[in-house]
Amino acid sequence: MTTSITSGQRPRTCRACGKKFEYPVKGSAATRHHCAECAVLAADTRLILERLQNRIATLERQVSRLSPPN
Ligand SMILES: [Zn+2]
Repeated sequence: MTTSITSGQRPRTCRACGKKFEYPVKGSAATRHHCAECAVLAADTRLILERLQNRIATLERQVSRLSPPN
């Protein structure tokens, strides 16, 4: 009867591809920051994806700033 924390299960966003995923999931390779698909990638490959993901996030912020709020 150990008190285990079950509140950890909430949708997370993958740092590499931006996908929403559940964590932790039993049998899934997903980590706290990466979905199951990206978790198995080579570290240097994942780093490139993260870099692109950051650029996309930056661009999205800039685009939303360009569009008038009405
Ligand atoms: Zn991913």
